[in-house]
This record gives sequence, C-alpha cells and structure tokens, in this order.
Amino acid sequence: CGIVGYIGHREAYPIVIKGLKRLEYRGYDSAGVVLYDGKDLKLSKTKGKVSDLEERAAKEITFNGTIGIGHTRWATHGVPNDVNSHPHVSNSGNLVIVHNGIIENYEPLKKELINRGYEFKSDTDTEVLINLIEEVQKKENIKLGKAVQIALNQVVGAYAICVFDKNNPDEIVVARLGSPLAIGLGENEFFVASDASPFIEYTANAIYLEDEEMAIIRLHKPLKIRKIKDDSLVDPYVQELQM
Ligand code: GLU
Repeated sequence: CGIVGYIGHREAYPIVIKGLKRLEYRGYDSAGVVLYDGKDLKLSKTKGKVSDLEERAAKEITFNGTIGIGHTRWATHGVPNDVNSHPHVSNSGNLVIVHNGIIENYEPLKKELINRGYEFKSDTDTEVLINLIEEVQKKENIKLGKAVQIALNQVVGAYAICVFDKNNPDEIVVARLGSPLAIGLGENEFFVASDASPFIEYTANAIYLEDEEMAIIRLHKPLKIRKIKDDSLVDPYVQELQM
C-alpha cells in the first residue's frame, strides 16, 4: 500500500501516477487518484493495478491540476472493489483523504456519525475518518489542520494519511502513526509519499515524519510539524537524500 501527494506548480497527475508505480513493490489491490483543478475535485479509482487506474482515469477525468493525491490500497476493512478504493470524499464533498493503516475503533465512530445524519458509500474505516474530520470541522468551525488533529486524537489505530479541503486549497495535511510518510521539499512545491522514491528526481531534501506527528503543508509558507497529542511544534529535521 502507498501514498503519493503533490502540491506546487507542476501538473500533478504524472507525478502521482509515476510515484504510485514506484510504490507498487509495497503490495496493493486497488489504486486511486484525486486532482484539484482550481475549482473541483476530480476523482478516479479502481480495483486492480495502477495501469488499470490510468486506463480508467483517461476516460473519467481531465488531468489538469497542480494538486494531486494518489493511493494504492491493501484492503483491511471492506473487500477490494472500486467503491472501497481510496480516495474517499466526505459527505459535503469538500474533504478528501487517502489512508494507509487501520482505524480500529471505526465502528462506534461510524454509528455516532450515522446518528448525526452521515451516510456512507463504502465499507472502509477510512471513510469514517474523513467524515469524523468533517464533523469536527463543522462543529468547531476550525481549519482543516486543527480538525484533523482533534479527529486523530479520537482514533485508535495506525495510519499514514493525506487530507485535502477544496475550500482551503493552498494546503494539504498529513499525519503518521505506524505507517511511513516522507515529505519532499522543493521550491514552492511539496511532495508526499510512503518513501522517497516518488520524489527523489525532483528534490534531495526530505523530512520523514515520526510516529504521532502531523504536518500542515502550505504553499509559500514554512512547513509546520506538530505532535498530534499535545500540539507542540517539532523542529523539522531535513535529510539530504543521495540522488
Ligand atoms: N484500512 C484501509 C482500507 O481498508 C486502508 C488500507 C491500506 O492500508 O491500504 O481501506
């Protein structure tokens, strides 16, 4: 399973697809991608290989967009099929997530959300998490990063996640507990991936998130890394990769 994300000035789609192919060795049963074209979220996902995703995406979406997130899924909750594939979108249609790992307490969280009127399309634990983030964001009227943090503090399990809010399109939020996540730092562009192989050709500067850390990645802003539990700021440790 794997995650690839891009926010910057280049076309995101080829970077994300090539990155997903480099992460194929990690194993997966489905693949998906979301692009943001400045107005809308464009989503394509399928059971099968990254090459199947390319075929499908060619029919379903146009490839313009300088923000993109991709995923390869190794199913844990819900069979491998198109609907259970990531990315997953929140009920409002504004938030989108990819996730590697398991949300162990998704059942009680899902029940609570259903009581509040949420509907679910998939059988995944991941779709519960994105709607929990949405519910927190709505209730507290806060920005995405804060909502992700509060939601993650209600979650038991393991994750690497990448979240995007189309109403706040200059940033992506990532977090890690138990599944790897690296951030590549370019010039006015950022890469996210399960390991550095998807972005090594673009930048040699990488930050590896530690467990229980999250990052708010904003264009034209310094990267902020925080502890999920207590909100304390972490000094980013930038590694120089051997190209
Ligand atoms: N638990 C999630 C699912 O089943 C993510 C699995 C993964 O790590 O790819 O959809």
